[in-house]
Amino acid sequence: MHEAAHKPERRFSALAVSRGIGIGRVVFLHGEKRQFFRVDLNEHQVGTEIDRFWAAVEQSVGQLHELATNNGPDLHNDVSSIFGVHLLIIEESSLVEKIKTVINDKKVNAEWAIKVVADQYLEKQLAVADGRFREKHLDIEDVAERLMTALGGSPSKAEPAYSGAVVVARELRPSAIIELAKSNPAALITERGGWTSHTSILAREFKLPMASGIRNLSKLFGHGDHVIVDGIQGEVIRNPRIETVEHFRGIRQHNSTVGSPPLAGEKALATIDGAQIAIRVNVDLPDGYTYARTLGARGIGLFRSESMIGNLGALPSEDEQFEVYRQIADAAGEDRVKIRTFDIGPNHFERRRSVEGNPSLGLRSIRLSLSETSDFRIQIRAILRAAVDKNIDIVLPMVSGISEIERSRSILDEERAKLEQTGIPTGYPKLGAMIEVPSAVMTAHEIAQKVDFLCLGTNDLVQYLLAVDRDNDAVAEWYQSLHPAVIRAISEVLAAAKSAAIPVAVCGEMAGSPFYVPVLIGLGVRELSMNVTSITQVRRLVSGITLADSVALIESIKTAETADQTEHLLREFYLENWNHLFPPGLLDSKHR
Ligand code: PEP
Ligand code: MG
Repeated sequence: MHEAAHKPERRFSALAVSRGIGIGRVVFLHGEKRQFFRVDLNEHQVGTEIDRFWAAVEQSVGQLHELATNNGPDLHNDVSSIFGVHLLIIEESSLVEKIKTVINDKKVNAEWAIKVVADQYLEKQLAVADGRFREKHLDIEDVAERLMTALGGSPSKAEPAYSGAVVVARELRPSAIIELAKSNPAALITERGGWTSHTSILAREFKLPMASGIRNLSKLFGHGDHVIVDGIQGEVIRNPRIETVEHFRGIRQHNSTVGSPPLAGEKALATIDGAQIAIRVNVDLPDGYTYARTLGARGIGLFRSESMIGNLGALPSEDEQFEVYRQIADAAGEDRVKIRTFDIGPNHFERRRSVEGNPSLGLRSIRLSLSETSDFRIQIRAILRAAVDKNIDIVLPMVSGISEIERSRSILDEERAKLEQTGIPTGYPKLGAMIEVPSAVMTAHEIAQKVDFLCLGTNDLVQYLLAVDRDNDAVAEWYQSLHPAVIRAISEVLAAAKSAAIPVAVCGEMAGSPFYVPVLIGLGVRELSMNVTSITQVRRLVSGITLADSVALIESIKTAETADQTEHLLREFYLENWNHLFPPGLLDSKHR
């Protein structure tokens, strides 16, 4: 029997960010910039791992020699002496030897051994009051980072055992989720991340139960601990008793067998009293759309073009982009695809990483595109070329007023003229704006006059309207999609689109959550764009409600002064009238 079974059961409350129950053993994923797992090695793999580590040491020593002896004009003496110190740490301290011993004795991968040893140094030095010694830790961290980078060039041959495991990390990057999903872990636990973080969105997309917001994970959990992740109620249970495991297995089984209606076929979706609701999907891969269509999606409401950018932050070339846009447009066919131009911040580019202290308010999205227009022009050209005989539209992210639209349109016209002059054919995409910034809501009437359609990005709209970081679970309580200000903002935007007679779609996470959908429909939304995994549950709900009830519901929540009051009113109504239309347990959990 595993030793953890003797320890008492302990429960930690968490934020439920991806629904589902996961039961398994803990595997840690470490690293901020680079994420890695602990890999348990077989006896015969240890030697190869140590060779791999030595190669990384040699490479790092070579780099440091060069940096420490290069006293050219660009390198200040102080700087070269720091690298001298780093060289000494590798060559003369016991660091390298200790790491080797950990690989050998614990039979783990080199990355993990570096982390264990660096953490030991940190602990020792933090215990020392003297500031000079404390600072030395930064040097150790730097050296550890350099060794890790060198290891990155030769990935470990041993496979991390995270299939069926519960992956625990301080923070998970979207690219890590994509990698992880291939191995089918049981669940994910992170310290940071809110409901609308891209990481949480992807976890839901891959149907991986996920809980976030538990601090000091590495102190609370150990490698191999038996845990249950309740991504429905928001709880993590360490060392669960047999009865607890049985209970959660029951819930898991129930969830996987209830409420999956047959594939949607061709039938258009409408409420009982005939209000037609268009379901679109947020996808980044052509196959994803093909599948979503079988579930009833009609059109790609959001293609996040930054999904093409790899781990290292390099932008794809014009031809590479052209290929991707063509493929996604082919998959969408008559249904159309909305390509959102790069919605990235400076942290996608290592060279600008340290410049900005407040990236959500910084040089990102359309601002970045318009500040260095060369990358934007490449993207626009690729879209214009791909749009020939295809149904492609363009969406501009984080627009704050009409000027970004005017500037983007001029660039679009200029690039079209240039392409046509050289005999390259172009298509005519419609141009739309994401409405996700308060100033865009307040000028929605003006914006609506300048574009062909609007997309309501509620993830960011809530973040910017309520001044609450969507990625920070510490303020999750303040991230309130039902805040009266959010409801009014959505209403304003719908009115603006109506008076300009242009379509508007909601493409944030609210569109895929059955709890919010009746509110959106009652407010007047007729286009919802969501993740593939939400389609079936939203279709089921929409086809079982009436527009009349949804409108009445809006009337009843108008008196609510807080998100909590609104939530309460909605839950009461749902429980009484539509309980059967909601996935099991959904009405039990919190939905601000
Ligand atoms: C949004 O902000 O609601 C949105 C759809 O875009 P993203 O989640 O990519 O910011
Ligand atoms: Mg957004």
